[in-house]
Amino acid sequence: RQEVYRELRKKPSLTRDGVAVDLLMNAGLAVDLPQLTESGAAGIGLFRTELQFMVASTFPRAEAQERLYRDVLDAARGKPVTFRTIDIGGDKVLPYFKGAIQEENPALGWRAIRLTLDRPGLLRTQIRALLKASGGRELKLMLPMVTELSEIAQAREIIDREVRHLSRFAHHLPTSLKLGAMLEVPSLLFQLDELMKAVDFVSVGSNDLFQFVMAVDRGNTQLADRFDNLSTPFLRVLKMIADAGARNHTPVTLCGELAGKPISAMALIGLGFRSISMSPASIGPVKAMLTELPLQELEGFFNDNLMAPSQKLPMRALLQAFADDR
Ligand code: PEP
Ligand code: MG
Repeated sequence: RQEVYRELRKKPSLTRDGVAVDLLMNAGLAVDLPQLTESGAAGIGLFRTELQFMVASTFPRAEAQERLYRDVLDAARGKPVTFRTIDIGGDKVLPYFKGAIQEENPALGWRAIRLTLDRPGLLRTQIRALLKASGGRELKLMLPMVTELSEIAQAREIIDREVRHLSRFAHHLPTSLKLGAMLEVPSLLFQLDELMKAVDFVSVGSNDLFQFVMAVDRGNTQLADRFDNLSTPFLRVLKMIADAGARNHTPVTLCGELAGKPISAMALIGLGFRSISMSPASIGPVKAMLTELPLQELEGFFNDNLMAPSQKLPMRALLQAFADDR
């Protein structure tokens, strides 16, 4: 099987009927970088910068951050990399962060972009490190747990200030800077067109989005088998997002666990996603599915079934039957 996946690396990333889909990988530490060539990923769709903070015993200094980001971009050798600003708080606690607070509902609490906008020194240091490391190359940056568009505007102000600061000191700046938002909070579903216009790209964090849409704790094993992330309502949500991206010409990708299983990756592509990011070990199995996928037929399947008022079987079973038949 490993041999089959290795062979697949040389094949273009196309469906059986010739539609291109980018298969990207998730990463977070320097040790992940060799996987970029080993997996054949088209780039890094999610670089979880908080991992450097989580394995450290104090806040990583600006120089250490810059060094890691530079190493990542060097290892990528021109393949695209999307850095996510630190996503701490919630279940990702830093023992040395003295400002941390006890919370009744950490998943709904002071985390990610909320925390870094309140502690802008953290965000400024990180953004400066990212800008410096990306001198002469493209910088793609995304913000976790965005709930309101004003958070994007606030982050953009901080970024613009850092860009001005660095150019004043004649630093080598990125050749282009793309700012994206993660879509993981349902409030954004009700302002999709505004969201798409406010950013250069959107990345669906399906782990958190599913948790919030279904009101189901992603870490609670008691609930693990109860709610299906290929259920009709959740797939309708994903379709709304893909459609809004297409309508606004805003690239949309997805970087949660959903991207890494062949059956759910198949569903995502059928719903309109043309870029998905997963753990490196999933690239082979997902690519094997992709090259066999008759996409037009799958689109027909969704046209018939996704909005149908009633279904004979759960959507997951229908999708599995579709896959088995082919
Ligand atoms: C997600 O929520 O789907 C995601 C990719 O981010 P994380 O798993 O790091 O919360
Ligand atoms: Mg998330």
